[in-house]
Amino acid sequence: MADTPELEVMPGDWSRALAVVAHPDDLEYGGSGAVARWTRDGKSVVYTLVTRGEAGIDGMRPEEAAVVREREQIAAAHVVGVDTVEFLGHADGVIEYGLPLRRDIAAAIRRHRPELVLMTNHRDTWPGGPWLNMADHRHVGLATLDAVRDAANRWVFRDQVDDGLEPWDGVRWVAAAASPHATHAIDITDTLDLAVDSLREHRAYLEGLGDESMADPSFLRDAAAEAGTRFGGVLACEFELFPM
Ligand SMILES: [Zn+2]
Repeated sequence: MADTPELEVMPGDWSRALAVVAHPDDLEYGGSGAVARWTRDGKSVVYTLVTRGEAGIDGMRPEEAAVVREREQIAAAHVVGVDTVEFLGHADGVIEYGLPLRRDIAAAIRRHRPELVLMTNHRDTWPGGPWLNMADHRHVGLATLDAVRDAANRWVFRDQVDDGLEPWDGVRWVAAAASPHATHAIDITDTLDLAVDSLREHRAYLEGLGDESMADPSFLRDAAAEAGTRFGGVLACEFELFPM
């Protein structure tokens, strides 16, 4: 789009990132090409999933889907160099914004002590049109932004501190993938194929989508090319970056 400004380069002077998202597949539809590049460059990335994605497959009961999707998420993470995948166990589809969610995410930040926190789009709509985002994504994104501040304050969720989880005030940025207000990007020309392979690990989920366009992982290539039109013409992964 000619009237939108060029994207700036994502910061690279960090060593630990924590990704916090609502569902298995959220990272694979947004930031996994960037994650693959970062892990290849020697950085550490941990995934924290707020749910097990149990409400994500129409034709599969949640008790079974939770097991299948957890397994698929762990496999998808391995493809892009992520070995630690945690599940917080909130209920898929009905995630509530509130203190229990902030508390769990703050604890994850205190455990993993990231400099960069990744999340997915918390805005009302998706890029490129008026398509509405869903409540789970909005709630987890907002709670993640708030939990970064919570994690730094020893007087917030102080029972965690009393139990030995030290406050962590070292988060320097939060980056939201798939935001309609992207500001920064990273070149993923060399890792896009890994991102596609990572998404393909969500086999049961993609089968459940049937012939929806999102079920074809080549969709990621189009999105990367689109982001690249504002980033020097390379294949790119874009983020809305919040300096903390
Ligand atoms: Zn999702």
